[in-house]
Amino acid sequence: MAPSTTPPPPDGLLVVQPLRRRHCAECRSGPLSLLVLEEGAPRCLDCADLGHLVFLPRGDTALTRRSREASGLSAVVVRFNRRHGRYERQGVLVEEAALALAEERCLADAEARRRRRVRDARRRAVEDARFTEVFAREIQRLFPGCPAERARAIAAHASVRGSGRVGRSAAGRALSPGAVTAAVRASARHTETPYDQLLMAGVPRHEARRRIASSVERVLREWRLREAV
Ligand SMILES: [Zn+2]
Repeated sequence: MAPSTTPPPPDGLLVVQPLRRRHCAECRSGPLSLLVLEEGAPRCLDCADLGHLVFLPRGDTALTRRSREASGLSAVVVRFNRRHGRYERQGVLVEEAALALAEERCLADAEARRRRRVRDARRRAVEDARFTEVFAREIQRLFPGCPAERARAIAAHASVRGSGRVGRSAAGRALSPGAVTAAVRASARHTETPYDQLLMAGVPRHEARRRIASSVERVLREWRLREAV
């Protein structure tokens, strides 16, 4: 017997997508796109009393699970894969009302998830803004001579990495005098000295840092003074 006529014993109702042209042994309709084997003989879905079910292709696990749960009668649809030598699941047949209900529930879930994402994004934006503000204030406290605009830019850049997103403790660490000074120093290095040009000219990073070190420290000293120079 050809393998396509001997699907595995069903765990529940099994419906087959035949590879060959098959007709219903009872009403002779066909060729059938879906059939049920009853004692080896193909039956159309109507003769097998499954004609009222609708096909749900595989792929959406949650929708499939919910549809089957809500369906008083359901069946698994399989097709023989010649290359793999086995029957493979194609989807399920479920009651249309069950599918509609399952779709509603999945949509409600997706909508709930979307609303939660919007809330989370809004909260993160608020946290980021608050972190940037606190960071900028801390820069101005340690470096009163640093122009306010620069302090805000440095803080905004730092908050991209150090915001509430990485947790309170990490944010606290990011606000330590050492971390704030490091952020200011990095910014001064790139904007107040020819560091970037040196790197672009092929000067090794450590050598470039050595050459601009005194300029950076001079800028930091100036910014530590109360009045901008
Ligand atoms: Zn039939």
